[in-house]
Amino acid sequence: MQVNQNFLNLEDSYLFSTIARKVNEFQDAHQGEKVIRLGIGDVTLPLTKSVVSAMQEAVSEMSKSETFKGYGPEQGYDFLRNAIKDYYATKKVELAADEIFVSDGAKSDLGNILDIFGTTGTSLIPNPVYPTYLDTNTMAGRKINFLNGNEKNNFLPMPEDGDGGDLIYLCSPNNPTGATYTKEQLKIWVDYANNNGAVILFDSAYEFFVKDAELPTSIFEIDGAKTCAIEFCSFSKTAGFTGTRCGYTVVPQDLVRENIKLNKLWLRRQTTKFNGVPYIIQKGAAAVFTPEGQKEVETNIRYYLENAKIIRDAFKELGFWFVGGDNSPYIWIKCPDNLDSWTFFDKLLNEAHVVGTPGVGFGSGGEGYFRISAFGARENVIEAMDRIKKLYK
Ligand code: PLP
Repeated sequence: MQVNQNFLNLEDSYLFSTIARKVNEFQDAHQGEKVIRLGIGDVTLPLTKSVVSAMQEAVSEMSKSETFKGYGPEQGYDFLRNAIKDYYATKKVELAADEIFVSDGAKSDLGNILDIFGTTGTSLIPNPVYPTYLDTNTMAGRKINFLNGNEKNNFLPMPEDGDGGDLIYLCSPNNPTGATYTKEQLKIWVDYANNNGAVILFDSAYEFFVKDAELPTSIFEIDGAKTCAIEFCSFSKTAGFTGTRCGYTVVPQDLVRENIKLNKLWLRRQTTKFNGVPYIIQKGAAAVFTPEGQKEVETNIRYYLENAKIIRDAFKELGFWFVGGDNSPYIWIKCPDNLDSWTFFDKLLNEAHVVGTPGVGFGSGGEGYFRISAFGARENVIEAMDRIKKLYK
C-alpha cells in the first residue's frame, strides 16, 4: 500500500491556530479586556426570513409520504438550476440549466474539479490568495507557478505577472485582498486563455459584494469566456450559507479541450462521486432568488459594505496604503513602518486589542500586508477603528 506522497509536500498551515493561541494568551494576561475580532472570513448575520421559511416548508414536505424526497438529481433540482439560470440572465449571461451544477459549496468544487484535468499540467495560482487552490493542486501533484500580486498591479495580477500555466486561478473580488478585476482586465485574461488553450477557474464567491455597475460579477460577462472558463459560486457569503452549505459551478457546453466537453466530464464526475445537496437546503437557496429574498440578502450585504466603508475611511484618514473594501468585505492594508505581517498583528493585538489576519498567511506575496474583515457587528467595527486611529494618529 502506498500513500499519496503529494500530501507530504503540503505545508502545514498554522495561520488560524496561531492567531487563536496569541489571542488566548493575550486574554489570559489581560482579563476583562475587550478584544475585537476583525479577522474572520465567516459571515455574522443569520439566514434571512425567506430562506428560513422556505427551508421550514421543505422540512414539512419531507414529513409526508406524498411530498417526501429521497435521492435527488446529483446536479441539483431543476427549480434551483432554473433560478440560477434566470439570475445569470439579469447579468445578460445566457446559460442552459445543464451548464449549472449545484454543490455543497465552492470549496468542494474548487478541489474536486482537478479530477477532470491531467496531473502533469501547470497551475497558475495568485500569490497571495485563498489557500485552497495551492493545497488542492499540491495534493493532485500538479506543477505550480505563481502569479504575483503586489502594490504595482494593485494585487490584480495579469498574464505578465506569472510564468503561465494551463489552469489559471482567478478570484474576484479577491480573498484576501478585496481587489476586483475590471471587464477590460478579464478580457485580457480570457483572450490569453483562449490563445493558449488554458482554462480559467474563476472563483466568484464574493460576487454579490460588487455594487459598482461597471465591474463584472461573472467571467461569463466577458466575450469569449464560454470557451475557456469555469465559474465557482457560493451562497456562503451572498446569503450566509457558510454553515448551511450550498454553491454552484458553471461549466459551459462550449468549453472543449482535446475534443472533449469538460461539461460532460464534470457531469460524470459529479454523478459518480456526489449525491446532491439536500432538498431542504436547495429550497432555501432558491428562496435567495425570489424578489423578497434578493431584497433581504441585499440588506445584509449593504450592512457589511457599510462596515467596510468605515474601515476604509479610517485607513484613508491615517494615510495607510490599501485596496479592497469598496466591492468586497475585505480591506487589504500595507503594514505601517515596514512592519512584517506578524509584527503588525502583535502590535494591533497588544496596543489596540484588535485582531486581523496577517497577509503572509495567504502566501509569501502577502508578507508586509494585513487583511481586515468587514464581517462583524457595526459597533465593534466603529470601536476597533477608533482604537486604531488613536494608536496611529
Ligand atoms: N472561495 C473563496 C475565495 C473563499 O474565500 C471561500 C471561503 O472563505 C470559498 C471559496 C469557500 O466557499 P464555500 O463556503 O462555498 O465552500
